[in-house]
Amino acid sequence: MVANLPPATGFLAEIRQDGGRPLAPVFASLGRRATLRKRTGDQSLRTVLLHSGAPDGAHAHARGRTLVLAGELYNRAELLRLLPGRALPGSDAAVVLALFDLYDVHAFRLLNGRFAALVAAPGRAVLATDHAGSVPLYVSAAPGRVLAATEAKALRDAPGGRPVAARPVRGLPGTHQVPAGTVLDVDVATGTCGAHRTWAPSPARRTMPEEEAAGAVRRALERAVRVRAGEGTPLVVLSGGIDSSGVAALAARRAAGRIDTVSMGTEEAHEFAQARVVAAHIGSAHREVTIPAAELLRRLPHTVWAAECPDADIVEYLLPLTALYLRLGDPGRRVLTGYGADIPLGGMHREDRLPELDTAVCRDMDTFDGLNEMTPVLSAVGGHWSTHPYWDRDVLDLLVSLEAGLKRRHGRDKWVLRAALAGVLPHEVVVRPKLGVHEGSGTASSFTRLLTDAGVPGDRVRHAKALVVRELFDLVVAGGRHPDEVVTGAVVELVTARLASGTRPAPTRLP
Ligand code: ATP
Ligand code: MG
Repeated sequence: MVANLPPATGFLAEIRQDGGRPLAPVFASLGRRATLRKRTGDQSLRTVLLHSGAPDGAHAHARGRTLVLAGELYNRAELLRLLPGRALPGSDAAVVLALFDLYDVHAFRLLNGRFAALVAAPGRAVLATDHAGSVPLYVSAAPGRVLAATEAKALRDAPGGRPVAARPVRGLPGTHQVPAGTVLDVDVATGTCGAHRTWAPSPARRTMPEEEAAGAVRRALERAVRVRAGEGTPLVVLSGGIDSSGVAALAARRAAGRIDTVSMGTEEAHEFAQARVVAAHIGSAHREVTIPAAELLRRLPHTVWAAECPDADIVEYLLPLTALYLRLGDPGRRVLTGYGADIPLGGMHREDRLPELDTAVCRDMDTFDGLNEMTPVLSAVGGHWSTHPYWDRDVLDLLVSLEAGLKRRHGRDKWVLRAALAGVLPHEVVVRPKLGVHEGSGTASSFTRLLTDAGVPGDRVRHAKALVVRELFDLVVAGGRHPDEVVTGAVVELVTARLASGTRPAPTRLP
């Protein structure tokens, strides 16, 4: 089972000329740890890898360079064709290092994957995210040292870094997040860095006949599901909505045996009946997990801790899935989701007008970066590896670039996706209206009630949610508290009292 996961799912790497003290490897992700040490000239590299049993597959060495990779590639066969006449590299890390030899930083423009990578070369530290920044990567750089980690909390004790071309992390001075689809090339001696974009969403739109567009989406998605499914039995987190039902149906068609599916709900709301229809149709081994709303809300600190996201709307989407991953048991599962389809398809947009739809797509594609919606840490807190076929680079490129009329047609949202999946799902599933994960699971309403019960007026709930999530971020990410020690109710009380008295937030001191 564990061999079915990427060799590493995270890392903390320290490249030093300054001989400073190593940082403690603090991660929310579960995983075994292995320490890798290399020395090149006056520079040392120390990496703690979070691995699943075979850490050697997560690093590669050649010509005085070391590459460390958390995650995996999805276009490996294509990439190997670029390396003719060489001994074929075994691991994804070796493939990336061989490409780096040929293309240097431009190697990262070639990759379709879910990864964060670091190359330690003499005098240089090269840090790269995948096109979507789907494995977050953080850096703290100063003359003589570059510290990088896949979780910001691992850099909490880093001595002050200098500004780099990246987003500062709230509450962690000197720590920055490497943008999506970006390579940072840091000069270790000076701590200065150059940035190279390796991917950007297309601003242009393609026109295609309906059938051709549906066929292209179907083929791209089939490929994305196939390369993510791994050797063992994949598990699809299934709501019964079109996005996850499509992934489950395509995974089931290519699997030798039954695939596994799981749905979560609370005592207040669930989509169990809808998911059952899909599970029966594709013949999956299906499970339903009811998580009491009170338990769900207790997982708010864990969700912020895992996602390192201070945005309340996003945390509300991620909470039910995090709570589900923590309940799954049987660690080491490869989990496929239907997450993210709505962003390139404008699925959250409920108006029937094309200009507004494309405006929403442009806005969402411009603002996803840094929200960490796709982070694998959400599932890694339960010891699993999640991956999202709709944010495969080829699927995403195609979906973004389709003209808005293919995304909204015949009065339906996500029309082209529904058309692509019409042959593999029952009609009732194909036409089912969108229901957000935070709605269908009762997450949004439970969080709202927690606040109104604490005395927050209805028109202040959204603001109060934002304050609660920011407070949680300050405690469990910037403040280094373990989420088991943070009581959601106590944070709500604190925020409610502040709102009532109109006071400005003070540094948090909770029991
Ligand atoms: P639709 O957008 O049409 O509702 P969907 O339900 O599959 O389709 P979202 O609502 O956007 O997609 O939810 C995002 C993803 O989260 C889903 O694709 C699915 O993988 C997962 N998910 C959502 N709700 C549940 C649930 N109740 N149980 C398990 N997984 C879920
Ligand atoms: Mg849904």
